[in-house]
Amino acid sequence: MFVLGHQGRSPSAAASFVQQIGERVLVVARMSRQSQHHSLVFFHGREVSSFCPMDTTPAYPTLRIVSHPLVQHKVSLLRARTTPTKIFKELVDEIATLIAYEATSELPLEAAPVETPLERTTGMRVSGKKLTLVPILRAGLGMVEGVARLVPSARVGHIGLYRDHDTLEPVDYYFKVPGDAAERDFFLLDPMLATGGSAAAAVASLKRAGATRIRFLCLVAAPEGVRRLAEAHPDVVVYCAALDRELNAQGYILPGLGDAGDRLFGTR
Ligand code: URA
Repeated sequence: MFVLGHQGRSPSAAASFVQQIGERVLVVARMSRQSQHHSLVFFHGREVSSFCPMDTTPAYPTLRIVSHPLVQHKVSLLRARTTPTKIFKELVDEIATLIAYEATSELPLEAAPVETPLERTTGMRVSGKKLTLVPILRAGLGMVEGVARLVPSARVGHIGLYRDHDTLEPVDYYFKVPGDAAERDFFLLDPMLATGGSAAAAVASLKRAGATRIRFLCLVAAPEGVRRLAEAHPDVVVYCAALDRELNAQGYILPGLGDAGDRLFGTR
């Protein structure tokens, strides 16, 4: 393995080093304090590390992979065809909580007075607090409680989209979010980012309703979906537990975990 120290303005500036060497490379980026990428560690060759909570790579600048060992362990259990519905549901819930922990790591804080039993002090609190979880029906429902565990005051909207099995394009049938969308931070939830069609359509619907700050939380992403969502909505950061190899002809993620909705709700 090669380790490169990289001083640049953007993660993609390191990509040329990586291509030249063509090996497994760990790029440690030291960037300006102003950069949102300050101190990020980039892994190539899908390295999994126990010292980096979130991986990112120049090939997918909008993607954050939560590489925490517990997340990776639970995703493997989720993939197994022998995992029964009850356990599958619990795992989706737990992984959603762990991904939400990372996806909320950049929420702005503000100072707030606190009265302890002994004295008055100044603590920190998440400013604004107008968080909204929006599961894409139906598989996204499996992630709601897991995320809400960390942000119990969040409102919950719903987007109903299904994928036409012939065209693989999203067809929308339900949309309900809080009225003050422009003032809110949205967490769009769907376990699988496959073609990216549903995700891009859901983001477009949220933006039409006035949303400006949207994060996409999923469990497993396909390269095709990450690229399509990034092309349509480069402002939307995607948090996932795994970036898989590819889609098959039916739009399923490989190796994937099968149909997340069927496995969550036992409709296989
Ligand atoms: N939706 C799923 O549930 N699974 C896939 O692999 C792709 C889309």
